[in-house]
Amino acid sequence: MPHKKYTKPQKNLFSLEKLNQLQQQHIENIQKVTQTIETLYILNTQIIEENINLRTQLHLQDQYISNVSHELNTPLTSMMIYAEMLEQHLNKISSSPYLEMSKRLNIQLNRLCHLIQNMLDVTRIDKDQLLLILSTFNLNQLIKEKLADQTHITQNHQFILELDDDINVIADKERMGQVIANLLSNAIKYSPLGGKITISTKNQHTDIKVSICDQGIGIPKDALNKIFERFYRVDYQQTKNFPGMGINLFICKSIITMHKGTLFVENKEEGGSKFSFILPINNTEKLIT
Ligand code: ADP
Repeated sequence: MPHKKYTKPQKNLFSLEKLNQLQQQHIENIQKVTQTIETLYILNTQIIEENINLRTQLHLQDQYISNVSHELNTPLTSMMIYAEMLEQHLNKISSSPYLEMSKRLNIQLNRLCHLIQNMLDVTRIDKDQLLLILSTFNLNQLIKEKLADQTHITQNHQFILELDDDINVIADKERMGQVIANLLSNAIKYSPLGGKITISTKNQHTDIKVSICDQGIGIPKDALNKIFERFYRVDYQQTKNFPGMGINLFICKSIITMHKGTLFVENKEEGGSKFSFILPINNTEKLIT
């Protein structure tokens, strides 16, 4: 019987070819992955570089704002002194037609001074250079003083005080006054049709809550968290253009945070917004540390 010639099974031959193919494919895949990793690496390096450039630009921008504010502050201070002297002098000449002009000049110079001081505060906050000068004082009294400063600028608004008893705090009086004045002037500015503005204080035993509630335009939902950011302003193109620089709330928030308190906002269902801050009562130790 003739010997049957041995032939390798076809299956194995095919497997070897397939194996080579797979190996080739595998090498190609590895090459692709390596290329992708290289591309990602290059992109990452570019992003890091852009990030550094952006930070440098922001730093330069901050430095520029700081320099400009300082440069403007010096001549402005002299102008305010001269304008004040001029007004005092014209006041003595009772019939001077220039007295009214001089008063307006002083009002505008004070506004300019307020703007520049705010810019300087922003740079102080950025550099951690805003200092608190602590004293004990009655917060209700301070609210009444700040309200008296604002009431003359509007006839459309009705102010309602709901003040709790004995609201004494240990805080920086000047800075707390700044917070109250800013929140009040915003409540007036952003309720252009007038309405009630309610200011309330509440002694909650361990802390004090102060709220300023208006019946104004309110704040779009998506902007509620952003309005405390530096330079953030809601875009009111479709409604009215409100003047401002978008730094008041940033300053207010920083001051309250420095007092270990919290500042927050909520929209009222019936319209308008309510800004509140909470200050811990016995916070001297916390503030010193
Ligand atoms: P500015 O008023 O100069 O824009 P702020 O920091 O005081 O800067 O306020 C930031 C933004 O918050 C404002 O642009 C405004 O859109 C919104 N906002 C502040 N207060 C009120 C308020 N009482 N009612 C409605 N919107 C407000």
